Amino acid sequence: METTKKDIRALSKEQLREFFVAQGDKEFRGNQVYEWLWNKGAHKFEDMTNISKDMRQVLEDYFVINHIEVDQMQRSNDGTIKNAVRLHDGLIVESVLIPTSRRSTACVSSQVGCSLDCKFCATSRLKRMRNLNPDEIFDQVVAIDKESRLYFNRPLSNIVFMGMGEPLMNYNNVLKAIEKITSPEGLGMSPKRIIVSTSGVPKMIKKMADDEVKFGLAVSLHSAIDEVRTSIMPFNATFPLADLREALEYWYAKTKNTITYEYVVWDGINDSRKDVEALIQFCKFAPSKVNLIEYNPIDDGQFQQADSAALDMYISMLEANNITVTVRRSRGKDIDAACGQLANKS
Ligand code: SF4
Repeated sequence: METTKKDIRALSKEQLREFFVAQGDKEFRGNQVYEWLWNKGAHKFEDMTNISKDMRQVLEDYFVINHIEVDQMQRSNDGTIKNAVRLHDGLIVESVLIPTSRRSTACVSSQVGCSLDCKFCATSRLKRMRNLNPDEIFDQVVAIDKESRLYFNRPLSNIVFMGMGEPLMNYNNVLKAIEKITSPEGLGMSPKRIIVSTSGVPKMIKKMADDEVKFGLAVSLHSAIDEVRTSIMPFNATFPLADLREALEYWYAKTKNTITYEYVVWDGINDSRKDVEALIQFCKFAPSKVNLIEYNPIDDGQFQQADSAALDMYISMLEANNITVTVRRSRGKDIDAACGQLANKS
């Protein structure tokens, strides 16, 4: 019986209101239930104390509330927390809490596995099994917010969609989740504190611009030379840099937002002067920020972080061209929670 019931969190507020009217109850009951689900985090209908007992039974007959469970939590020496999260169908995804002195950032997953095949990424070895539903993305954020309050005495401050999966390949559900995260009836977080990080799906970047989204965009670029990028991110053959650049120009023309690029410098792959010059050419059309991310080798060791001389060259050449550069030290390496390491190994 249970399996024929619908997940109530798949319903919009409007649909919930319509459900109550169809049951002969008041429309505003829909608002009350919506608040229980998205603001108060109710896991059971019986917790919804301002809904009559009979109506709670009706809800029980029609719906389930599918909640994620934190199956395993690991804490790194540097304070980073990794959650292996069990979904209602038993599949597992991972999300990470990255604490710094001032911030608690959640890195959340958007898909189970990934359909893309970035050679340096552990997640790419898990085939994409399915997209996450909006409530499954939302619940990862709620779980990390609770951990932040418990272990660091502060609420979650930032969210990055940099966990498992390509968020723009699950665009509608990511958007719905962000809507709940930012709405006053949900978690009420500012969209300015949310970054969606994509490997670069041109059509979807344009769609984000058309949809006038209020959250930030980051692009995992890693090379501005087609040949090199295709060798490490093979889908670049389908979405080449010229298309990506055109989409980013479109994004910038509409949003006027600085574009952030995520970039790892690997030994012997993209550590030459030519690579930096190509990067400068690629991003100088708009205000840009390049995050140079420390790399965490995955099992086969094919990719190794370039030496500090290569990083220094990147920093000085980018800065000379008025491009902001930051160097991001990786966190949670000892628990495989760092960038590119999420692969359900825990
Ligand atoms: S880096 Fe991101 S897009 Fe590429 S395979 Fe890994 S999870 Fe997918």
